[in-house]
Amino acid sequence: MITLAKEKQLTIEDVSDNKSCRYPLGKVEEPPKYFCGKNRWSNYSYCEEHVKVCTKDENRDSIQTKAS
Ligand SMILES: [Zn+2]
Repeated sequence: MITLAKEKQLTIEDVSDNKSCRYPLGKVEEPPKYFCGKNRWSNYSYCEEHVKVCTKDENRDSIQTKAS
């Protein structure tokens, strides 16, 4: 059996634990069907990448200040 190294599409059940990123994937105008599922960043509900995506508009300046 050949398993391709392709990202698995995770459903809400796959990310319903307390350590998986719940960032919805897919088009914004459609109800979320698949989710990120990567390890969460700190105490956020999302992984580091998606925390930054979600906060880049309103809080980018403050986050960059903390990081530097
Ligand atoms: Zn994520």
